[in-house]
Amino acid sequence: MHRRSFIKGASVAAFATLANSAQTPSRDLRIAYGGIGIECSTYSRLRTRMDEFTILRDAELASSERFKFLKRYPVGFMPTLVASAVPGGPVERKTYDTIKAEFLQRLKALMPLDGLYLPMHGAMFVDGMQDAEADWYQAARKLVGPDCLISASYDLHGNISQPIIDTIDMLSAFRTAPHIDREETMLRATDMLLHCLHEKIRPILMWAPVPVLMPGERSSTEWQPGKRLWEQLPALNREPGILDVSMLVGYVWADEPRSTAAVVITGTAPNTQRKLATALARQYWDARTEFQFGTETCTVEECVQRAMDAKTQPAILADSGDNPTGGGNGDQATVLESLLRHKAQNVVFAGITDRPATEACYKAGVGGRVSLSIGATLDPKASQPVKAEAVVKFLLAEANPARREAVVQIEGITLALSAYRRPYHDINDFTRLGLTPKSFKIIVVKSGYLSPELAPIANPSLMALSDGAINQDIVHLPANRYRRPSYPFVADLHFTPTVYGSARNRT
Ligand SMILES: [Zn+2]
Repeated sequence: MHRRSFIKGASVAAFATLANSAQTPSRDLRIAYGGIGIECSTYSRLRTRMDEFTILRDAELASSERFKFLKRYPVGFMPTLVASAVPGGPVERKTYDTIKAEFLQRLKALMPLDGLYLPMHGAMFVDGMQDAEADWYQAARKLVGPDCLISASYDLHGNISQPIIDTIDMLSAFRTAPHIDREETMLRATDMLLHCLHEKIRPILMWAPVPVLMPGERSSTEWQPGKRLWEQLPALNREPGILDVSMLVGYVWADEPRSTAAVVITGTAPNTQRKLATALARQYWDARTEFQFGTETCTVEECVQRAMDAKTQPAILADSGDNPTGGGNGDQATVLESLLRHKAQNVVFAGITDRPATEACYKAGVGGRVSLSIGATLDPKASQPVKAEAVVKFLLAEANPARREAVVQIEGITLALSAYRRPYHDINDFTRLGLTPKSFKIIVVKSGYLSPELAPIANPSLMALSDGAINQDIVHLPANRYRRPSYPFVADLHFTPTVYGSARNRT
């Protein structure tokens, strides 16, 4: 059966088929939504605690920018809570248990339910657990019962497992990296849920794990082989009997048995799904040696030298091992030390997380001189701080000391300091601090592949293969204790795709 879209005025190209159907689902359907999203590196010694989560509830959630797309449906989606945090270290168990308990309590108050939509990331690691998303789904399933349909949306860098497949009914994952299809993916997941509820279908969920693990920096969909692998999915989504085709890179910096690439197919035609999952898993496997960095890579020292020698500007140097949006700490001053030693000029560095240094700047005031120890405040064992004399150039007007940011000048380097872990990947992240990134010869950011706003201005783009909680040298990561054999950890692996179904479809 072809799938119909229930979005008012649907124009999302990735959707199947009979958009703008005259029929609308019953207004009596009861559908709730809520979830938790974070990406956790098990190589980080930091722990993600409650104060790092942003939790939206009830009306605040319903009116949020991220979920306003739900208003396009003729059915009311009932909010519970959505918790999200900047990627980082594993989630502290107590924090997870508290958020989960509140989610379940809110869900319980909305019972009975016909459908549940779970906006997730898929790479959460909780202390003492090796399949945290499965735990969340199983708890939700226990509450909503076997007949409620559960649909999840996922990041491309999420991990799948058999317990996950056995618990939910449908899944849709991002098809772009950098992720520019967040809303489209959430629309696919919710639209599919409405379609199945309206047509009274319990979809068939199948997956094929692929024993390949790549950092996101090698598997972007902007270049090959990622481009051709993911580009074909929208058309496949329109095949009869197919509701969603997802292909996931997985999250490489989590040493857990489920970490692997995967193909996940939701549909109503098991034979077609099986065939398609097998073919896509085979394609992904066959492309494994093709995955490469999409930009010039070098050591920190080489990158600093090349940026200084560049005849064009701005050179953008990405400190990849310490990128907070991939799970890095964001507090390392290794690149700063190298820039100072080489006496680099006309550099903007955004930024380093360092609350004590940020507070010292606020004490000194704009124009004040301060002796700072910069970096290594979150994990003193992972890197060395840099001592420097600085002049305070700018202080963000912010009453809460935990959310403050300062800009200092240290010799030829204009440096942003932040009291909390955050990226500087959009132009506005600079301009709000009074900085014009393009006016500098060198821009340093803590990033992997550059964001859609920074990539076009990079001239050249240099990715430093720096050490940190998300070191790109994955084969030499310490303590690979739980990971299943996969490429490139095992170079001479043999693989024949196997497609697994869901226990939900066997009952
Ligand atoms: Zn991602």
